Amino acid sequence: METIAKTDFVADLTKKSVDLSRWYTEVILKSQLADYWQIHGFQVLRPYGYALWENMQARLDARFKATGHRNVQFPLLMPESLLNQEAKHVEGFAPEVAWVTHAGKEELSERLAIRPTSEAIIMTMYSKWIESWRDLPMLLNQWCSVLRWEKSTRFFLRTSEFLWQEGHTAHRSAEEAQAETMRMLEIYRDFVENDLAIPVIVGQKSEAEKFAGAASTYTIESLMPDGQALQSATSHYFGDNFARAFNITFQDMDGERKFVHTTSWGLSWRAVGALIMVHGDDAGLIMPPKVAPTQVVIVPIRGDDATVVEAVARAEESLRGAFRIEVDRSDRTPGWKFNEHEMRGVPLRIEIGPRDAKNTQAVIVRRDTREKAIVAESALATEVGRLLDAIHQNLFERARTFRDAHVTEADSLVALTTGLKANPGFVIGHWCGKAECERAVKEQTGATIRCIPFDFQNGPGRCVIDGAASEKRAIFARAY
Ligand SMILES: [Zn+2]
Repeated sequence: METIAKTDFVADLTKKSVDLSRWYTEVILKSQLADYWQIHGFQVLRPYGYALWENMQARLDARFKATGHRNVQFPLLMPESLLNQEAKHVEGFAPEVAWVTHAGKEELSERLAIRPTSEAIIMTMYSKWIESWRDLPMLLNQWCSVLRWEKSTRFFLRTSEFLWQEGHTAHRSAEEAQAETMRMLEIYRDFVENDLAIPVIVGQKSEAEKFAGAASTYTIESLMPDGQALQSATSHYFGDNFARAFNITFQDMDGERKFVHTTSWGLSWRAVGALIMVHGDDAGLIMPPKVAPTQVVIVPIRGDDATVVEAVARAEESLRGAFRIEVDRSDRTPGWKFNEHEMRGVPLRIEIGPRDAKNTQAVIVRRDTREKAIVAESALATEVGRLLDAIHQNLFERARTFRDAHVTEADSLVALTTGLKANPGFVIGHWCGKAECERAVKEQTGATIRCIPFDFQNGPGRCVIDGAASEKRAIFARAY
């Protein structure tokens, strides 16, 4: 992570339009979402950042529970032999695994892996817990942190240790497990679009890009302001790969012993990185209202004025409970406070001065458009609710307009290369399915296949790379 000296002045914020990468780091530090830790690649989540994560967690968790999933907590460590049990899985994760080799001064007889993901741990327990078809489906999820040692790191987007949730399910049949994989993918799409206000493209990963050990991996991909894609969540169908590796069988209704079919799915705090980049502007963060730690900040103007004190108390009373609100009674100047709360991306600001108090009204300012309106005290709660919805809608539309303007089509490798240069973003083109073609694009352009989108398909064509007959179109982009 790039080290940037901490300053107190919001005015010092690098412009997003000038240097996205620097702006990104600065805005995270200045708004106090997160801070550096002494070990490269690790970050500290500060109260404002943690409040945001908690709101995201609560809304996603409610969706998991509504679809029958339950939360659990599995251990941080696993013996090396466990991780080695599924060959492709260990091959995929081995370079990033951190190992515990000692307990005090004593060297352990078998080194222990700090979980890079928990398939091996959870499948071990599934083999113990699942006996008959009556135990299925088993639908578990855990909120935890995992560790994948990273060399090149950035706040939220690429950290060695990261917070996430990982769902792991076991089913009687392949069809049921497939359906679960798609159900969770849809939950992620719904969450990212309707709560984080980020439009996504939904699709399937290529063989080269799929999760280590999966039969198929599905993804939602969003587009960042620099034209790079961000994988925002994934859902994996494992078939019976893990069931065979970990010997998870059950007695079916017909009396036969069969292997279960499993899935896993995850969303991490990368999604925080996505919402910072997609929505923020030159003045700082813009929090999507549904997950904003503070939805409304009330700033008294002339806070020593008795009528203002009373009017602020009335406004607070009318909003408390219905919205996440904050009243800034600190002794800073109103101007300083405006900048500060804009930096933190609070969606709505309410200003109340002596004249407003006298007229039983308040001034409401939107963070996204900076529009100001005078609202009668009696209409405050209704208006706040309406504006928060409007801000969500506007953020989503704005992001979708940008995304759509950065989707180009290509019918040849030259067009694909030029497309990526001229208008960095998603490039759609036919792909025959061969790994060589996928590699050729990566070598020539640095772009990878983000997914085979479910939409954007319009019949057979010719592979953009080698001209071979192609059934499907892929989305190519450089990615975080
Ligand atoms: Zn091809």
